[in-house]
Amino acid sequence: MDSTPSNDLELLDKVINLAKRRGFIFPSSEIYGGFRSTYDYGPLGVNMLRNVKSAWWRDMVQMRVDVVGLDAAILGPPAVWAASGHLETFTDPLVDCRKCKERWREDKIDGVCPNCGSTEFTEARAFNLMFKTQAGPVEGEGATAYLRPETAQGMFTNFNNVVATTRKKPPFGIAQVGKSFRNEITPQNFVFRTREFEQMEMEYFVPPAEAEQWYRYWIDQRLNWYLGLGIPADKLRLHEHAPEDLSHYSRGTTDVEFAYPWGWDELEGIANRGDYDLTQHSNASGAKLEYFDQAANERYTPYVIEPAAGATRAMMAFLLAAYHEDVVEGETRTVLRLDWRLAPYQVAVLPLSRKPELESVSQEVLAILQPHFACDYDVTQSIGRRYRRQDEVGTPFCITVDFDSLEDRCVTVRDRDSTEQARVPIADLLADLRQRTGQD
Ligand code: ATP
Repeated sequence: MDSTPSNDLELLDKVINLAKRRGFIFPSSEIYGGFRSTYDYGPLGVNMLRNVKSAWWRDMVQMRVDVVGLDAAILGPPAVWAASGHLETFTDPLVDCRKCKERWREDKIDGVCPNCGSTEFTEARAFNLMFKTQAGPVEGEGATAYLRPETAQGMFTNFNNVVATTRKKPPFGIAQVGKSFRNEITPQNFVFRTREFEQMEMEYFVPPAEAEQWYRYWIDQRLNWYLGLGIPADKLRLHEHAPEDLSHYSRGTTDVEFAYPWGWDELEGIANRGDYDLTQHSNASGAKLEYFDQAANERYTPYVIEPAAGATRAMMAFLLAAYHEDVVEGETRTVLRLDWRLAPYQVAVLPLSRKPELESVSQEVLAILQPHFACDYDVTQSIGRRYRRQDEVGTPFCITVDFDSLEDRCVTVRDRDSTEQARVPIADLLADLRQRTGQD
């Protein structure tokens, strides 16, 4: 029986609480009272976040011959952000509540102050979201630098480097995963909107005539990526922006939206950016960011299709979708039904007792599995309690080593979702788990 919270805000509270209590996500600098809207990823969170990024990298780069990777600098000179349009237009409308003086992003509050309920605001002014800093010991304009607010520009400024070194020809993509920074006016909803976050972006360069086709292709691919990693279809939808809502660079944008506890909201955006970026950087830098098609003897500026996702935001969506409470043997348990590829630990090895003989066989099992799976090892408390602890953090398989194991060289494999148990020879364990995870 499933008794997962039906009140959505209760679900959000439960997930935030679990994330803190079990070491997924901690409020940053907590011993100093916290630092608003920054979070630290704990021992389990760092595993899961890496898994989200690895799953993305595997599908977007490793499994394709038409996409290569990049890891560009976070600090950049003003020239990049002038050309990209960020200095001019990467702004949100900032208003002050006339009554309580709180500041808000005008387009997110429907004319009512979320703090005091007042409807009296100052005129909206454009607030630039980029973090500005100084590079080097000298102050002044020459030393100004910005923290990137998106990873995308690195792919455009390196376009010629990548084409020259990889000999890729359109259609081809450059992918990057890394931190981005935005001085958000109202960071909110846990890690949904933070000032420091991680993105997973890919710029796919195509002949202009093929742009629409590839735009549709990537919308489809990206929606299927979330479905394939276990987000149910009724929690995902596509939202195509109306022409009047498009960003200045976009010829078409579709968001993959997720049913968050507060309603449908963006998980990822897929945009047809046309030739905006390469043209802007060509004009501003003097470098010709073009592709020369030898067969057609023709030089052109490719169009760009960009699937832009948030790694930290995606992790939150995976956690929310996976959270369940059900009843097993008359007892309510919390279970994260995470895809095994995303779970912080894929296997937990649990010796029934602390007896040295059992621990020694357990260490043997661990040595077999650790090169292939992220493993936890737990000897504390009763076995039932340990199963519940592993369910709560989404560990798909528990391996129990008991006294019979010493005689028959078999262990018990317990499945998180069905709670079914099977006796498996230690010699076959790796093959068994590979089969259960669909790797064989
Ligand atoms: P919004 O309109 O919600 O501010 P955006 O449309 O400007 O966001 P993009 O620039 O398209 O967002 O960024 C691509 C992806 O990066 C988003 O879909 C989201 O997953 C992630 N992202 C953007 N801003 C943040 C943030 N402040 N915190 C966490 N993730 C973010």
